[in-house]
Amino acid sequence: MTNTSTFETWQARAEALRFEGRAFINGHYTQASSGETFACVSPIDQKVLVEIAACDVEDVNIAVTAARESFESGVWSQIAPYKRKAILLKFADLIELNAEELALLETLDMGKPIGESINVDVGSTLRALRWTAEAIDKVYDEVAPTSPSQLGLVTREAVGVVAAIVPWNFPMIMASWKFAPALAMGNSFILKPSEKSPLTAIRMASLAKEAGIPDGVFNVLPGFGNTAGKALGEHMDIDTLAFTGSTAVAKQLMVMAGQSNMKRVWSEAGGKSPNVVFADAPDLEAAAAAAAGAIFYNQGEVCTAGSRLLVEASIAEAFIEKVRAHAKQWQPGHPLDPATKMGAIVDQVQMERVLAYVEKGTAQGAKLSTGGQQVAPVASGFYVEPTVFEEVSGEMTIAQEEIFGPVLSVTTFETEAEALSLANDSVYGLAAAVWTSNLSRAHRFARGLRAGSVWVNQYDGGDMTAPFGGFKQSGNGRDKSLHAFDKYCELKATWIKL
Ligand code: NAD
Repeated sequence: MTNTSTFETWQARAEALRFEGRAFINGHYTQASSGETFACVSPIDQKVLVEIAACDVEDVNIAVTAARESFESGVWSQIAPYKRKAILLKFADLIELNAEELALLETLDMGKPIGESINVDVGSTLRALRWTAEAIDKVYDEVAPTSPSQLGLVTREAVGVVAAIVPWNFPMIMASWKFAPALAMGNSFILKPSEKSPLTAIRMASLAKEAGIPDGVFNVLPGFGNTAGKALGEHMDIDTLAFTGSTAVAKQLMVMAGQSNMKRVWSEAGGKSPNVVFADAPDLEAAAAAAAGAIFYNQGEVCTAGSRLLVEASIAEAFIEKVRAHAKQWQPGHPLDPATKMGAIVDQVQMERVLAYVEKGTAQGAKLSTGGQQVAPVASGFYVEPTVFEEVSGEMTIAQEEIFGPVLSVTTFETEAEALSLANDSVYGLAAAVWTSNLSRAHRFARGLRAGSVWVNQYDGGDMTAPFGGFKQSGNGRDKSLHAFDKYCELKATWIKL
């Protein structure tokens, strides 16, 4: 989406904005049953934006009952797919109509640059919703190639009540990758946004209603992980739980499912993605710019962040110099300034976590080659410089653990085999990139990488047309593309004797 608003215009709009902090259950905004709230604090400057309803077990029970009743009633689950499509397309149109407000809410809530919020976050949400809505009346079921004495039908059915628990780094996009296919399939849906970024989810609920999504079909429950999130994980009447967030929480949700009703748990979890640059990369300048973008985009708060840069030793010195030069262009600025490339870290806890990793990297012997400090482009906000560590070895903490901040670890290698071994030396397997102009090596290396998304001579390519998800402890199942529907339906085999 193109937007020509200035810094001053965004600031004026932010001043005039009204915030909704209540939950949305069964078609209406409501406080938490307990009356409890928590403060929504902007990481830009620590301003309190609004009080948010702190939902818990009781609210989850009410929302699940509403979702179940709406599902059983058929108001959504039993209407023709083309009718659901029309309503979901209207939902997308309303999101587009309110794009600036949603982008502002996202930026004020979690600190990303406004230019990204409007172009990427709103833009990708629209694309997810429209692509998925358009698909739903074009996917067919199957007839099994069985013996002539019977007819075997293989059909997909909505699973029922779907809950989604999502993180704060791309609040709208992560939510839309769940609600678009879940709703398109005919499920009723409960969204629990992160306690660090609930505003866009809460706002989108009213747009869903305005678009014609029936009461009970789309619910939003803001709250904390260990209260509202846990209650969803343990609930006996949720059929599917779709999660995006950390690997640690994904594991807990799998246990909760096993101890409750065996709800299906789909997780999109953490990453520590390698970005591998060979000396024969087609354009080293472009590779260096991409290496910086891969880790500093969205303040490094990206599951697919290229946090491990692996460089062939023969070009390492010159290449790292180029990366450092690009890093300097990612200095944090005011998130409401359209010229800003890097914004605020989501909150103080996360900022301190990032700075602790910087300390650990230095303590374990890595060379801090640029950045590493908190800075203050806006007073009282949470900002960290773009940071690069050199001389990082594979066993160091900063090479193994997901930092989720603007911190790059650089390691050098001598051979292709060593590069592949280093690249795959991770409990994660979300994404990986390789830069080379050798066609055979590109294919060989891409095959060898244990990752759900692999990029050749680029970083972070992707589209709604292809699945997205992780190998190993980066998760299971896939968001995006027609494959995403698999998560939100059951397969039924019906046998008719002829
Ligand atoms: P997180 O796991 O701390 O929280 C994610 C969500 O889970 C939040 O809504 C939180 O409230 C909830 N939660 C926390 N504890 C819970 C519990 N005990 N029971 C139920 N719910 C609970 O993650 P985060 O800090 O919000 O996000 C960062 C993580 O998300 C990173 O690990 C990142 O890699 C991952 N992520 C993955 C993808 C992907 O597609 N693979 C995309 C974006 C982010």
